[in-house]
Amino acid sequence: MTGIPGGDRKRPKAARSEAKPSEVHESVPPKAARSEAQPSEVDWRDWTWQMQHRIRTAEALEHFLDPTPKEREGIAKLAARFHFVITPYYAALMDPDDPACPIRRQVVPHIAELDDAAGLADPLDEVAHSPVKNVIRVYPDRIAFCVNNECALYCRFCLRKRMVGEPEWAMKKRELGEALDWIRATPAIRDVLLTGGDPLVYSDDRLAWLIGELRAIPHVEIVRLGTRLPVTLPFRVTDDLCRMLRDFHPIWLNTHFNHPRELTAEAEEALTKLADAGIPVGNQSVLLRGINDDVATMQALCEQLVRLRVRPYYTYQAQLLEGTAHFRVPIEEGVALFREMRGRTSGFAIPQYVLDTPYGKVPLAHPYLRGREGDDVIVESYDGRLWREPNPE
Ligand SMILES: *Cc1c(COP(=O)(O)O)cnc(C)c1O
Ligand code: SF4
Repeated sequence: MTGIPGGDRKRPKAARSEAKPSEVHESVPPKAARSEAQPSEVDWRDWTWQMQHRIRTAEALEHFLDPTPKEREGIAKLAARFHFVITPYYAALMDPDDPACPIRRQVVPHIAELDDAAGLADPLDEVAHSPVKNVIRVYPDRIAFCVNNECALYCRFCLRKRMVGEPEWAMKKRELGEALDWIRATPAIRDVLLTGGDPLVYSDDRLAWLIGELRAIPHVEIVRLGTRLPVTLPFRVTDDLCRMLRDFHPIWLNTHFNHPRELTAEAEEALTKLADAGIPVGNQSVLLRGINDDVATMQALCEQLVRLRVRPYYTYQAQLLEGTAHFRVPIEEGVALFREMRGRTSGFAIPQYVLDTPYGKVPLAHPYLRGREGDDVIVESYDGRLWREPNPE
C-alpha cells in the first residue's frame, strides 16, 4: 500500500513531554459521598454544585470506591499528563466492586495508559487544519469550532486530550470574536459545530451570545452542539437552557453515550427536555474494548437511545491516540459487530461506524455490494445470502 498517505504519520516530538501539573438506573448520591460533602437533593441536582464538587484526587475518589493498585498508580503517574476529573453524579454510577465497570473505566486513570507505544497527541492533525485558533476545517462547508477547553469530566480516551483542561486552549472573548470574524468572512461555511471541550459548560448567557452571533451570519444555516453533559452532568439541561436554545432553531445536538448504564433516569429527563424543545438529538459513541464492543451491549445502548428519541449517529473507531491502546478494537471486529446488528434491530438504531482521519470521516462497513457480473450486480443480505440485481451499464 505504498503511496497511500497516512501510515507513516510520525509521533510528534516531545508531545506532552513539557508536561504541566496540572436498564434505567437511578443515580443516588452514595452514602459515603453524602456524609462527606452533605449535598442536599437540591444541591445534588444543581449543575453548578456538581461542577464545584468534582473529584480530582485519589482521596476524593475513595468516597465512591476503593481504587485498585493499578488505578492508584495511574492517578499518581498520569496526573501531569491528562487531568483526572469526575463529576459526583457520574462517579455515583461507578460500580465500587468491579474494576472492569464500564463507567469506571471511562474516567478513572489506569496504569495501562502508560503502555501505548503507537499513540499520538493529535492523530487527526487538527492543529494543521485550523485557519484560526480552535476552528478545525476538514470539509469545505462545515467546521468544528472548539469554543471551550473544559468538560464536566475528562474521558480517558478523549480525542482532544491535548486540549481539554489545558489553559492554552481556552477561548477568550477576543479569540471567539476572531473566529466569528473568520466565519463571517468565509461564506462557504453553512454548518457550525460547537464543540470542545464542551460548549454546555458555558453559562446560558455566554452560549446565547455566541449562538446569537452565529445566527446573525446569513450563510450559517445550522448550528450544532456537541456535548457530553447529558451523560456526565444531565442537570445542566435545564428548562432555561432549552427555552434559550429553542429561540435559535435550527439547533441540532449530538451527545455521547457509550454504555446503556449511562442512560439513567436523570439522563432520560435531560434527553426528554431536549427532544421536547424540538432539538434533534443524535448520539456519537466510541467503540471501546470491554465497554461496548459486543453486540448485546451496543444493541441495548442503541435501542434504549431510540426509545428516548435519540438517533444513534456515529460510532467512532478509537483513534491512534496516546494512552488509549487498551481501549482500541481492531476495525475488522467493529465491522463485524455492526454487520451483526443490521439484521437484528431497526435501521435507525444502527449508527454509522466511522474512522476519523485528517481527510474527514470514513465509513467502515461490510462490503454489501459485492461487485458486478456482466449486466448484474451481486449484493449480500444481512444474513449472508447473495442476490443478483439486474443493473445494465
Ligand atoms: C466530524 C466533523 C464535522 C462534522 O461532520 P459530519 O459528518 O457532518 O457530522 C465537521 N468538521 C470536523 C473537523 C469534524 O471532525
Ligand atoms: S466529554 Fe468529550 S471532549 Fe470532554 S473529555 Fe470526554 S470525550 Fe473529551
